[in-house]
Amino acid sequence: MIPTKVRSHLTQNESLIFERSSPGKKGYQLPALDVPEVDPAEALGAASVRATIEDFPEVSEVEVLRHFTRLSTWNYAIDLGMYPLGSCTMKYNPRINEAVARTEGLAWAHPYQPESLSQGVMEVIARLEEALLEITGLDAITLQPAAGAHGELTGILLVRALLEAQGNPRKRILTPDSAHGTNPATAGIAGYEVQNIHSTDQGMIDLEELARIVDSDVAALMVTNPSTLGVFEDNIMKVADILHSKGAMVYMDGANMNALVGIARPGDFGIDVMHLNLHKTFSTPHGGGGPGSGPVAVKKHLEPFLPVPRLARKGDAWTWDYDRPQSIGRVRAFYGNFGVLVRALAYIYAHGGPGLRNATVDAVLNANYLRHKLRPYFDLPYDRPNMHEVVFSDDRQAAKGVRTGEIAKRLIDYGFHPYTVSFPLIVHGALMIEPTETESKRELDQFVEAMIAIAKEVETEPETVLKAPHMTRTTKVDEVGAARKPVVRWRPS
Ligand SMILES: *Cc1c(COP(=O)(O)O)cnc(C)c1O
Repeated sequence: MIPTKVRSHLTQNESLIFERSSPGKKGYQLPALDVPEVDPAEALGAASVRATIEDFPEVSEVEVLRHFTRLSTWNYAIDLGMYPLGSCTMKYNPRINEAVARTEGLAWAHPYQPESLSQGVMEVIARLEEALLEITGLDAITLQPAAGAHGELTGILLVRALLEAQGNPRKRILTPDSAHGTNPATAGIAGYEVQNIHSTDQGMIDLEELARIVDSDVAALMVTNPSTLGVFEDNIMKVADILHSKGAMVYMDGANMNALVGIARPGDFGIDVMHLNLHKTFSTPHGGGGPGSGPVAVKKHLEPFLPVPRLARKGDAWTWDYDRPQSIGRVRAFYGNFGVLVRALAYIYAHGGPGLRNATVDAVLNANYLRHKLRPYFDLPYDRPNMHEVVFSDDRQAAKGVRTGEIAKRLIDYGFHPYTVSFPLIVHGALMIEPTETESKRELDQFVEAMIAIAKEVETEPETVLKAPHMTRTTKVDEVGAARKPVVRWRPS
């Protein structure tokens, strides 16, 4: 038996970089100074200068490189295999997007460049706006928000601005109990009370309840469509009629647009304002904190309130229009996360209309395939044809003492990233699975086999599932302890 320490390059059980430090080692080499030396304390003020950085790791270049390269091999990524995290749309991001985003004139454009030198990048923004308006069926759009939740906040601030201009911002925002957590959070931050509405046993908004509670204090309904249950809100036009009849608006959380693109347009089914997640539906790499993009598209009546600046035409050139007295102002520096916008446009143009429609159809087909294959083994509380994702419950496995979180951990042993655990909240012990259109039948079948194998293990050897993962470098960790008492600072022992 070779001692673990010697095998460490194989197991790559990497120590902390702090533990590799040895005094005086450096990872860089600077050329000799060719300007007069100054005392930093004199130049910057003593308070801004510190003599040492406590516990700063001192390591060589190759040690840094190997450390982070080894750590990177611990990651699971969409480039390794299926990543069925529901609601997150972890699909494959075609490499051509990256090539286009790295085009010199786009990658090196500076936001302070004069407009006359920025016509190309402004044209990219204009074309993306045009494409997204065609896809959503709405009238105007801002590309400024940096993520989905940021788009939600922008959208609800637009609703508030319009209602204020009409004389009364109103008090409440309605969210169904299947809502993504960001929806009530957005309403709260925009200064509204949140009122929950119940879903029917079909996972739809309860129209009778809705009609009863919508009054002149309701500013808007925030609805995710398809919902987080992966089902399309059949009555969406009736829902919109109820809201509109009381002067309220319908906000659509469009993070799940990958189930609708090329098939149905929110602008045609009564939506006043919505956001898109370019980093989900339009294939920008995401996870790990961004950058993302959450454009907000609106009907005409909300256009005057969109953030400044707005792209406009002056003669035969593009210009930024800041003269928008009713605008809610900026929501982000400059014009949004431009690199993400380039990737989204590349994706849209590479697919074309029929290609985008195909992607939608495949996403829905893949999710229905998984529903069909897995429903003999897992409980399905909303048993109807689904859209881009499918939500099972762990009720059957829970009877054997195994919960969704444990099944997810066991899935890691089978080489897959876990699905989304315990969300949406209205499904008890949810397993929320979104395969996306980019997975082949072969990969889906492998996933199905893994899930069925785990379901059988739950019957015959639940302990194996309860103690999973077994094959990873780190086995079961104390998640509650990590959340409640995080150790975020390294101290030499
Ligand atoms: C991902 C998601 C969001 C939030 O988007 P971010 O870009 O993560 O802020 C909101 N609603 C739904 C339904 C989502 O899936």
